[in-house]
Amino acid sequence: MRIAVISDIHGNLHALDAVLDSIAGDAPDAVWCLGDLVGYGPRPNRCCTLVAERADVCLIGNHDLGVLGRLDLDDFSVDAAASARWTATVLEDEPRRFLESLEPQSVQEDVALYHASARDPVWEYVLTPFAALASFAASEARVLLVGHSHVALAFGLADKGLETTIAPAGTGLDLSGESRWILNPGSVGQPRDGDARAAYLLLDLEGRRAEYRRVEYPVERTQEEIRERGLPEPLAERLAQGI
Ligand code: ZN
Repeated sequence: MRIAVISDIHGNLHALDAVLDSIAGDAPDAVWCLGDLVGYGPRPNRCCTLVAERADVCLIGNHDLGVLGRLDLDDFSVDAAASARWTATVLEDEPRRFLESLEPQSVQEDVALYHASARDPVWEYVLTPFAALASFAASEARVLLVGHSHVALAFGLADKGLETTIAPAGTGLDLSGESRWILNPGSVGQPRDGDARAAYLLLDLEGRRAEYRRVEYPVERTQEEIRERGLPEPLAERLAQGI
């Protein structure tokens, strides 16, 4: 089974369109989404509709929960809270119902999926060896998928210890052997690892391989839409830099 894994779309329709086009060329057996469909970005409704159509599995993320009023926006950054409040005012009934139907974790094909981490599926960033070890301890799965940090990376746990792999475009991982893995595909709609291109991951469960992909998209179109809607300017600027 070959799976395209996407995460952290954040209302960036042009990035999502580019990724879904690229995924169509990969012809995977399934598409899994790790959450944060909305928040920050200008096109929340269309992004929810597209993911509902194309993803076989979808989790809910902290920004989705914030927009639904199920997380306190005081815990968000100022710009994140402002965009969540705006999103809540424009979110249509069908996308809202779709988001309300989702959970922040799932198990599919022996793979554990979390929006954030195994220890805290909603909030914890898995960016350090300490956080990675805590997630391995909190899950029995050999392969764990997480989003939330918007950084494409991998942690491998073997007898000899933990290895962290930053995963730029084209990184391929051999998942055969005894190691356990935490894989983060990176973000479709707001990458923060210095590469502004939209990120996703191809996971081949039988072939035991993971491939990290990046796709160009018209960043300036999303920036224009952010400005037209009066969303905070830093949310537009950061997209060009991938931060
Ligand atoms: Zn996110």
